[in-house]
Amino acid sequence: MADMSSLFPILKSPLAPPPSPASQHPRPAWLRVKYFGGPNYQELKRIMRSLDLHTVCESARCPNQGECWNHRTATFMILGDICTRACGFCAVTSGRPASAPDQAEPERVAQAVEQMQLRYAVVTSVNRDDEADGGSAMFARTIAAIRQRVPDCKVEVLIPDFRGDWRALGTVVAAAPDVLNHNVETVPRLYRHVRPGAIYQRSLELLRRARRLAPGMPVKTGMMLGLGETRDEVLRAMAELAEQGTDIFTLGQYLQPTRAHLPVIRYVHPDEFAEYKMLGERVGLRHVEAGPLVRSSYHAFEQEQSATA
Ligand code: SF4
Repeated sequence: MADMSSLFPILKSPLAPPPSPASQHPRPAWLRVKYFGGPNYQELKRIMRSLDLHTVCESARCPNQGECWNHRTATFMILGDICTRACGFCAVTSGRPASAPDQAEPERVAQAVEQMQLRYAVVTSVNRDDEADGGSAMFARTIAAIRQRVPDCKVEVLIPDFRGDWRALGTVVAAAPDVLNHNVETVPRLYRHVRPGAIYQRSLELLRRARRLAPGMPVKTGMMLGLGETRDEVLRAMAELAEQGTDIFTLGQYLQPTRAHLPVIRYVHPDEFAEYKMLGERVGLRHVEAGPLVRSSYHAFEQEQSATA
């Protein structure tokens, strides 16, 4: 159970938008997801538990878990399950990790990729601001371990901002992931409220540097809607992200994981998502995946195919 006590100052902040009626009403029909736990779902659960691995699918209470796991897709969460930051939207437990990263974890992730017969693996992590390299070496080792065991499997990494430690970014890029993803999560005006430990310009710089370090590697980012952003702010952010050389952009509806998290200000209609996709691709983003249930790893394989076609 997440320790959400550190979130309350955020929720009481004068910067916080007014309580939303959206959170207090049933979700619209387009957000109701059928739960289906078929044989693949059970098999993935067994593999994850037997190898003592964490997934962001479970930790972030992703609404797509039934669909993705049945299609044998999951997002591994390395470096433990305690995050050193406390973003107001995120269901991952925050606090100070009790132990150093588990050095055997990269090999166990590779074993799981092999057992799951994945062709495309997504690896993310909690923030480890307590580690000198932010956990970047473990990302690099995980990529290498997967490549060693399953050479045909593509690897996408969804990395933190490493607090602007560009050597750490270089460590990950040098391991040559097939896609490098770093989510901006929201528009700059809402950062203090939604991502108090992060800086929008720093995330933009990370994306710009990643593009320069590896010109042939798809660079990806994503954002949630429904936290109080305006249409103009989203359009401006998409143009800025395209300017950094971002290839793939994901846009999905923010859903409040528990009542202690930030409220949903608005449920965005699927037609609006379709319009953002069209406008994002018009300003130069090569592939925009937009829709109420889109998450950064949702259909990640297809996004990579589309961006590199
Ligand atoms: S969308 Fe991503 S986080 Fe959600 S279940 Fe699918 S793979 Fe996991």
